[in-house]
Amino acid sequence: MSADETPSAGTPAHDSYDAVVVGGGHNGLVAAAYLARAGQSVLVLERLGATGGAAVSTRPFDGIDARLSRYSYLVSLLPQKIVQELGLGFAVRKRTVSSYTPAVRGGRSTGLLVGGEGTRDSFTALTGDGREYEAWQRFQGMTRRVAERVFPTLTEPLPSREDLRARLDDADAWRALFEEPIGVAVEENFADDLVRGVVLTDALIGTFADAHDPSLIQNRCFLYHVIGNSTGDWDVPVGGMGALTDALADAARAAGAEIRVLHEATRIETDGNRAEVTVRSPGGERVVGARRVLVNASPQALAALLGDEPPAPAEGAQLKVNMLLTRLPK
Ligand SMILES: Cc1cc2nc3c(=O)[nH]c(=O)nc-3n(C[C@H](O)[C@H](O)[C@H](O)COP(=O)(O)OP(=O)(O)OC[C@H]3O[C@@H](n4cnc5c(N)ncnc54)[C@H](O)[C@@H]3O)c2cc1C
Repeated sequence: MSADETPSAGTPAHDSYDAVVVGGGHNGLVAAAYLARAGQSVLVLERLGATGGAAVSTRPFDGIDARLSRYSYLVSLLPQKIVQELGLGFAVRKRTVSSYTPAVRGGRSTGLLVGGEGTRDSFTALTGDGREYEAWQRFQGMTRRVAERVFPTLTEPLPSREDLRARLDDADAWRALFEEPIGVAVEENFADDLVRGVVLTDALIGTFADAHDPSLIQNRCFLYHVIGNSTGDWDVPVGGMGALTDALADAARAAGAEIRVLHEATRIETDGNRAEVTVRSPGGERVVGARRVLVNASPQALAALLGDEPPAPAEGAQLKVNMLLTRLPK
């Protein structure tokens, strides 16, 4: 079900649940599905008119029947294990082209294509010889080996730093990606500024960090972009991201979870053993009891629900432009 095909909001069937999940984004829906499958009574509260959070499909263009991922649009970090265990009817397709970065060199328009058969030629045309392409391949080989070792840990108990280092068994990769700012490795491996910039995209996007930031927040961002499903591939969801979140909502409902849209949690009170969640909906306000509450929302939203001082909000760093073309540009 997409954001523009919403069912009526309904009302919670019970006064109390084993678990109340605040927020029907994909993470809340996965949690709800697993809890319900484990025999827990589960209520999902979503303040908007549809589940899916930032992973929804909508028809954003009036009068045009094109359904697309409004915000989040590519799938990488969703473990196949979850797709299989929840029996999700959901598929992805591989992309050929990852990116094209236009540039002007010596007054001439050029650019760098990454993905598909033209990649090697594009590197050579841009940089003058094959060295940068070979460096690119070596670097990708290194991140691929890291991905194969690290990704399976995402669905296991969190390993310690030493466990992960031992699992990686690659001192150079450990140094480059986990110990030193990634800018060091990028400068060691690549000479061309545009190539360096393309590699760093996965590290800097949305972080407000620089390549040499001592916090290593850029390394963490980079790792999240290159380890998905042990390949680092970013695939296109068939039917848009909403197809995934709809499948997750279906799996949660099939396991017995109740999902209520247009239901906003406005307050959580707890004595440490049980909680009471105040819920506002078109039908009015009501309080629901819970043994556990999972908040699938920002730290600011969580603090507001608990009546705590909220942490400083994260600065927004992304802008997405959706365009519908009648033909490819010349
Ligand atoms: C422009 C953009 C592009 C992105 N592209 C990608 C991409 O291509 N691939 C990718 O993997 N990730 C991408 N991301 C990141 C991805 O969208 C998020 O990581 C993901 O949506 C987080 O999911 P979530 O379930 O944790 O939270 P959300 O999707 O944020 O869902 C939280 C839900 O909680 C609800 N909620 C909040 N407070 C309350 C309350 N008090 N009561 C009831 N409901 C409440 C909200 O309405 C929302 O539905 C992108 C993000 C943006 C902004």
